[in-house]
Order: sequence, then structure tokens, then C-alpha cells
Amino acid sequence: MKTPYRSFNRLVSLFKRVPGVGERGALRLVLNIAQMGPKSTRELASLILKVSDNLERCRLCNNMSFSDICWVCSDETRDRSIIMVVESVMDLLAMEEAGYKGLYHVVAGLVPSTKRIRDEEKVKSLRLLLSRLERVKEVILGFPYTVRGEALCRFFQEGLNGKVVLSRLARGIPTGAEVEFMDATTLNLSFKKRYKL
Ligand SMILES: [Zn+2]
Repeated sequence: MKTPYRSFNRLVSLFKRVPGVGERGALRLVLNIAQMGPKSTRELASLILKVSDNLERCRLCNNMSFSDICWVCSDETRDRSIIMVVESVMDLLAMEEAGYKGLYHVVAGLVPSTKRIRDEEKVKSLRLLLSRLERVKEVILGFPYTVRGEALCRFFQEGLNGKVVLSRLARGIPTGAEVEFMDATTLNLSFKKRYKL
């Protein structure tokens, strides 16, 4: 679906690079943006640049952050005796929505990926988590009940065995589903009903 306008076509093809956005979705996005009005469009363009230029990872928990340490790690009101290990920042944000008030440890990327997490990445992540266990009473494994989630669970369970009390999110999450797509109530129940490993 090409038009004679090069910059328009290029913008559509850039939106198509976003996973889950197809040809029609990308077209709809560009056309909707074009009718947002000049003020909103300029703000959108400048914020895309600002976010992509300044987004870093928290040096303590690997969450997204605009500084060295993220908003969760720097919040003194959070329960620092509990750490939830999640696969991605997207999963962390879903847990925040569900009302979890402890700390986090993010294993991999910003969004969950279907790609296998490399062994060296897992080892590095475990090492970072082990360095944070002082004064921590419990580590919750916040992985989904998928093949990838089970493998991550096994890896962290072996690595943390005997070093801290371990628990895993209850099966309020359907088998095969991803954490990021759960509603807040289901997520809330699943961390309240977590079980010891
Ligand atoms: Zn952090």
C-alpha cells in the first residue's frame, strides 16, 4: 500500500517495525497522527526523541530509568525485604499496576521477547541479584507459566537455593499466558497467593 509520497511511506514502514503493528495498523497510526494537530504532533516527535535518547537501565535492578537509579529503588517507602524477579520492564509495569510494593529485579529487556535469553545474560543477572540479598527476606519468582518462564524459574531456583526464602507467583496466571497481558485483579491475586518453593 504505497503512496507517491516518500516521507509518508517511510514513516509507515518505520511504524511497521514495531512488533505487532502490521501494514494497516501502521497506516492508521500515521494518518491519525497527521490529524492530531501541530502542537500534539510536535510534542509527540520531541518526546520520542527524548525518551529514546535518555532511557537507561537502573544500575541496581535493571528497570528502565532516566537516571542511574530507578524510581522504585529510590523510593524509601517500598518494602525492601522482598524482591520480585521479572523477565522484562513490561512485566514490572504490570506488577506496579497490580499494587505490588516491594523491589524488583529485571532479568532481560524492556519488552518480553520470544528469543531465548542467552546463558551469559542469565548468569550476569543472577550475579547482580545475589549481590542485593543482604536484608532481603524473600525473593518471588515472577515468571509466567510458559516454557521460557519455567526455564527461567529453574535457573533462578538453582542459583538462589538455600540463600533466601523463595516463592513463585500462584497459578492465577493461566498456563501459556504472558504476565504483561493479565488484568490487575488476576495479578494482584497471584502475588497474594504465591507459594513457597
Ligand atoms: Zn531500580
